[in-house]
Amino acid sequence: MQSYTEPEHRLPIARNKDVIIVGGGPAGLAAAIAAARNGASTSLIERFGYLGGTATASLMACINGFRNQVEPDFTQTVRGIAEEIVLRLKQIDGLGRSPYPQKPYPTEPGAMEYSYAIDTEKFKYVTMKMCDEAGVDLMLHNWFSTAIVEDDTIRGIVVENKSGRQALMARVIIDASGDGDVAARAGVPFWQTRKDEAPRLNDAMMYRIAFGRTRPQKVHGCDFGDHAVVWGPSPGPMDGTDADQLSAGEVVARLRLFEDLEQKKQKHPELADARVIETPPLLGIRQTRFIEGEYKLTAGDALDGRRFEDVVAISSCAIIHYYGYRRYLEHEGYDIPYRCLVPKRIDNLLIAGRCISSEQQPYESHRAMVNIMAIGQAAGTAAALCCRTATTPRRLDVPLLQQTLESQGAQLRIGGASTSP
Ligand SMILES: Cc1cc2nc3c(=O)[nH]c(=O)nc-3n(C[C@H](O)[C@H](O)[C@H](O)COP(=O)(O)OP(=O)(O)OC[C@H]3O[C@@H](n4cnc5c(N)ncnc54)[C@H](O)[C@@H]3O)c2cc1C
Repeated sequence: MQSYTEPEHRLPIARNKDVIIVGGGPAGLAAAIAAARNGASTSLIERFGYLGGTATASLMACINGFRNQVEPDFTQTVRGIAEEIVLRLKQIDGLGRSPYPQKPYPTEPGAMEYSYAIDTEKFKYVTMKMCDEAGVDLMLHNWFSTAIVEDDTIRGIVVENKSGRQALMARVIIDASGDGDVAARAGVPFWQTRKDEAPRLNDAMMYRIAFGRTRPQKVHGCDFGDHAVVWGPSPGPMDGTDADQLSAGEVVARLRLFEDLEQKKQKHPELADARVIETPPLLGIRQTRFIEGEYKLTAGDALDGRRFEDVVAISSCAIIHYYGYRRYLEHEGYDIPYRCLVPKRIDNLLIAGRCISSEQQPYESHRAMVNIMAIGQAAGTAAALCCRTATTPRRLDVPLLQQTLESQGAQLRIGGASTSP
């Protein structure tokens, strides 16, 4: 490939913060709320004009993972900020009906349902309001460009925005970009499950349909009364971190969209009058990079329900695809250790969200958005504590992190009493 050398130029330093988070998806927004609530001056960098990531910008309106699948209790395994968000959505009529089978759980604090359909506009509103209330400095319409690294320590990042290129400095950076963009640019080793490997989850374009004259009995998606959000076409194997493949994937998925609805109508005649009323700005990208951390979660950890001394979140979701079927876990849940959020090689960096250090099988479980928010809350809290105790993520006092998380409503033990509001 031909190349071009950019001229060297000085950048304005637009922020100097305790914590900067890249990516305002479920992981990043929870991390930002947690960091700011714990006293850190916090900026949240997001390329779109709202928060939610895949939940809103890719219209993935179904958030899963509050409870395990073990009868008879189906115990709740995630609380904290994820629970707060859903309870606030409930207060403003911001929930629809999830297509996942629901048990008759009471929806009080500490007794959430496994899965919720979210009104994506109200999700944008509630999460932005919670960031605003916590004092997060929202930097929307900012594109992370590169990492500022000195002596294997990240000192800041460079963003592109309408004002040009800016440097933002921070004591701790959290990579919640989903794709691990910051860690990859900073030089942390990463891997991807090969795009042509069967177990890799495919990408898909979600879309919103209105029903027309008659509301069908069954909507085959997330049900919002007079409309639904449905799972749409896949572009086939692609790498969401490759600019050309990402663009080509959008084209393929969008050109298949109306054909996809026609196929749904043939399969489900009750959808005969349905029409597309919204597509998201971004194709739904299920998986890209996994960033190498101090520990890599294994298939055995997830299948055996392994507990870790440095637990910071719990996942009890099924492994959805790897074994060729939705494999429900036969135990109450397995721990996500803090070390999966601490990247190898680079200091002052934490990883949150779907790109944490994990094999494919556990990823297919903890990628569900409720778990992702729990991981985000842990990362944000850890970052704030690093600033408060003048240490690095690698040296952080993990029991202090765990105590802080539990005192703020997070669940680190199965069956523990809820401390949520
Ligand atoms: C098609 C599909 C179906 C799914 N189904 C479900 C389901 O039914 N239930 C469920 O719970 N989960 C589901 N998931 C999984 C879930 O949505 C993801 O695992 C989760 O959203 C990951 O959260 P995250 O915050 O790590 O990343 P993301 O949601 O990807 O958020 C990353 C954020 O970072 C921002 N960003 C990225 N790069 C940059 C950059 N360079 N500069 C600035 N900002 C940047 C993005 O705009 C985004 O806001 C599904 C996902 C897909 C794609």
